Amino acid sequence: MQNRKRIFTLTISSLVLLGFMATSLIGYFVARDSTSEQLQKQMLPLTSDNIYSEIQRDLLQPLLISSLMANDTFLINWAESGEQDPQQLSDYLAQIQRKYNTITAFFVSEKTRNYYHPKGIIKQVDETDPADSWFFKARKINTDYDINIDWDTAAPNRMSIFVNYRVINQQGELVGVTGVGLSMEMVAQLIENYQRRYGREIYFVDRQGEITLRSSLFQDDIYLQNKAGLDQLFMQILSNPSASVSYAAKDGNTIYLNSRLVPEFDWFLIVEQINDPATDRIETALWINVGVSLAISICVLMLAHFTIRGYQRRLELMASKDKLTGATSRQVFDWVFDKAQKTALRKDWSLSMIVLDIDHFKSVNDKYGHQFGDQVLKSVSRLIKQKVRDVDVLCRWGGEEFLLLLENCDQQHAARVAEMIREAVSELQIRIKDESISVTISAGVAEYQLGESMDNLIERCDHAMYESKNKGRNRITVY
Ligand code: GH3
Ligand code: MG
Ligand code: MG
Repeated sequence: MQNRKRIFTLTISSLVLLGFMATSLIGYFVARDSTSEQLQKQMLPLTSDNIYSEIQRDLLQPLLISSLMANDTFLINWAESGEQDPQQLSDYLAQIQRKYNTITAFFVSEKTRNYYHPKGIIKQVDETDPADSWFFKARKINTDYDINIDWDTAAPNRMSIFVNYRVINQQGELVGVTGVGLSMEMVAQLIENYQRRYGREIYFVDRQGEITLRSSLFQDDIYLQNKAGLDQLFMQILSNPSASVSYAAKDGNTIYLNSRLVPEFDWFLIVEQINDPATDRIETALWINVGVSLAISICVLMLAHFTIRGYQRRLELMASKDKLTGATSRQVFDWVFDKAQKTALRKDWSLSMIVLDIDHFKSVNDKYGHQFGDQVLKSVSRLIKQKVRDVDVLCRWGGEEFLLLLENCDQQHAARVAEMIREAVSELQIRIKDESISVTISAGVAEYQLGESMDNLIERCDHAMYESKNKGRNRITVY
């Protein structure tokens, strides 16, 4: 019984828990997959598009200005006609700088190697000076321009981003290199603004994976391939015009990365989403789900447990007590006797039994009816219980036959108890309507003998009881 109850409880708990867990987890994974897919396929490319168009607007402007300068007939003619009156060019450069709000504007002549600046000629570039290498590089390229991040010649402690545009005359000969510069700080600020606005990390890398532009907050390595988690993926990013990947960062967070080539710079714009807030919410929902599931499971289990225990108790009580008299029922007497017998053995007690049978009970039934007979049974058993100790067990053995088991009680004492009960019953007045009647009992007494079976002891008591009947009833006999 106990075992089956345990199996039942275990099965119910497993089923309830499994059900809850399965639905919670399925919900979690579906939600997580769909949000991460949405993020990777839609949200991230969309912000990447926005950032791209804004950056294009902000960063391509210097390119456009430089292109205008390189194609300006004034500049070409002035250089071609022998670079007369340097002030004229300085004024021109100063006006560009003022008008477009760049940090510098410059022209370096191919012929004289003069470096012109809004403030005049700063220097002559020199092939042996590493600071001038940008010029000699720009001379040789076969594209129109080159973008270079370098220290500013006019302000050597300021990192700047330069557009170096080749100036070509009508004969297709190189006249010089012109362009404007933007301060890196300003560009970093620009990127920082995007980062703040979009909540994403934004930076640029060149075709080699070197990080060329980034916010000042950026603390990572200068190469894409050195970023934790990207050592396997960087080739995919650098060899495709656009890519969407996700990887695990050092701290275990999943990072979604979107890249696209900005052809004007020949750089990749990288947008990263570090922490996906939607996933956080889904995870919180999962934990709430699990918590609620657990709480409900525990409630269900407790409810099941108490319900079962309640029924079990009632069943046990129903089985152990006689319904009419409340005396111990015959079904559990085996167990009661076994216990008493063991106690007697252990404590070296004597154990006695009395069998009691109501005399001529049939005629009571016949005369007053069955219901009154029941009343008599109740009254007699109540009286017997009153006359004995709480530890003594009264059992209803048959219709109007009772067993009384007396622990720590020898034969003589049991005989006295039986006699006392006999006397009390005979004096008992049971009322029916205006009449009152009395009944008598016959009893048989025996003391338990070591090694004797219960049946044998009862038989001996029965034997003694029948002797009482034979001798005329309303008496007791000791076996
Ligand atoms: P004796 O003195 O020889 O014991 O005579 P008796 O009439 O008591 O003996 P018998 O065993 O023949 O009759 C017992 C009667 O008890 C028979 C039965 O109808 C009645 N009886 C048994 N159980 C119940 C019960 O639960 N309620 C009622 N009212 N009568 C019962
Ligand atoms: Mg009888
Ligand atoms: Mg009888």
